[in-house]
Amino acid sequence: MKRLFGYALIAWLALTSLPATAQDQLKIVASFSILGDMVRQVAGSLASVTTIVGPDADAHVYTPSTNDAKAVANANLIFVNGLGFETWSDTLIKTSGTKAKVFAATKGISPLRVEGEIDPHAWNALPNGVVYVANIADGLSIADPKNAAVYKANAKAYSARLMALHNRAIAELKKLPKGSRTVVTAHDAFGYLAKSYDLNFLAPVGIDTDAEPSAKALAKLIKHLKKVGAGALFVENITSPVLIRQISRETGIKIGGRLFSDALSERGGPATSYERMFEHNLDTLLAALRKSS
Ligand SMILES: [Zn+2]
Repeated sequence: MKRLFGYALIAWLALTSLPATAQDQLKIVASFSILGDMVRQVAGSLASVTTIVGPDADAHVYTPSTNDAKAVANANLIFVNGLGFETWSDTLIKTSGTKAKVFAATKGISPLRVEGEIDPHAWNALPNGVVYVANIADGLSIADPKNAAVYKANAKAYSARLMALHNRAIAELKKLPKGSRTVVTAHDAFGYLAKSYDLNFLAPVGIDTDAEPSAKALAKLIKHLKKVGAGALFVENITSPVLIRQISRETGIKIGGRLFSDALSERGGPATSYERMFEHNLDTLLAALRKSS
């Protein structure tokens, strides 16, 4: 008996003496891949992060699995985008019975509206990304106050990198002539990017991906593009390229590449983190628009 207790004590000491074992890591659930990466950047090794909607997947139309419900039930902390992006998250969180606190990363951001509807894609402007990072650091510090200083320092360094990238985007995009700042994407996911960087994005589908465009709306967009032109068309990683190909055929405007709007790329792809995603989108836009101007 004594010996058994001794073994148990050694095992317990071994577990508690390691800095960040699975045992004392915070268990965090993030609703989609971009947010999951941002949480990992701020939490570092102090948390294990599970992402519900993974790379190259569409969070607008997601159906949660039983594994998702398990992850939510076991979480200490949950981060969502908010602004109506995850239409499925309230039900998932409620039915899982989780005791985790839920934080919206967009808290404090004044949302854009598209035809009266709130546009949830706030992460596509980097100053908003900095707000996400601050909200993530706050959430982590509330759940794990003893490491608050670490979260604050990580958030500060990460935000500085995001703002450096923001300043590069402004400087490079400013050089484009006024006439070559219009592009077309499959769905309306870049309103915040357009506003922050003085670009004009058009899309045959609105801010959600669950609706097909009406034949009338598509014809109107094609007619408009034939008249005024556009720098380039872009396919997206989360939506079908069929519509964009059709618009390209009918207008003669070239497809300038693939943008990552609502999800990161799979490992090995060009957009495996929020920063890399933004850089990839920026470089893809610049390459196509410089060619067209
Ligand atoms: Zn979207």
